[in-house]
Amino acid sequence: MKAEVAQQISLLELAEIDAELSRLAHQCAHLPEQQRLEQLHADERSAADRLAVLGIAVEDVDAEVARLESEVDSVRKREDRDRGLLDSGSVNPKQLEELSHELDTLERRQASLEDSLLDVMERREQLATEQAGELAIVEDLRRELVSAEQARDQARDEIEQVRIGRVARRAAVVSELDAALVTVYDRQVASTGIGAGRLAGGRCGACRIELDRGEVARITAAPDDEVLRCSECGAILLRVRGRGE
Ligand SMILES: [Zn+2]
Repeated sequence: MKAEVAQQISLLELAEIDAELSRLAHQCAHLPEQQRLEQLHADERSAADRLAVLGIAVEDVDAEVARLESEVDSVRKREDRDRGLLDSGSVNPKQLEELSHELDTLERRQASLEDSLLDVMERREQLATEQAGELAIVEDLRRELVSAEQARDQARDEIEQVRIGRVARRAAVVSELDAALVTVYDRQVASTGIGAGRLAGGRCGACRIELDRGEVARITAAPDDEVLRCSECGAILLRVRGRGE
């Protein structure tokens, strides 16, 4: 197959554009901004889970507070009733003894309930502090998520702008090339991922393998417009310099 030197220069540019498009795709798929965003999402989910667990604990403690308060209240009512009876002077000595005994028991019960209530209130306060701390973390993370998402979108947009420019240039280059040459190039891309490479320092620019001396001598001796293939990877081997070089 033959191809003018100008065609080979265009083919080299096509290969360079395709290499850049691959780099851009890889870059876009491995954005540090995307990794940071994912990390923040994971952190936010963990913090929100901890906050939910704390919320349930607070509800349980609140129920416990309500239960203890109502029990203290009923013990107090019972004490009031017993004292009322004692003060009325209408009880006989046996009832008096029973009432005094019951009042002692009720007072002990009330003291014990109030101790428990204090413990539970302390626990409630501790949980509220933890809850406030966790809520602040969640809010910080949500703010960071917004800016991290913007940073990710911006990084993506920048790559996309470059990509659009390269794709347009690629179309222009392809339109200058012989269709038969593009077909050979495309087939090679489909088989190994790289369609063409420049021969430099005895090495194929596509597979980077150093060609043996006999092969290099054969290539050097071939006419300029001869389309050569790498004996290692099959890529179109170009002996031209790129545009602007
Ligand atoms: Zn090669």
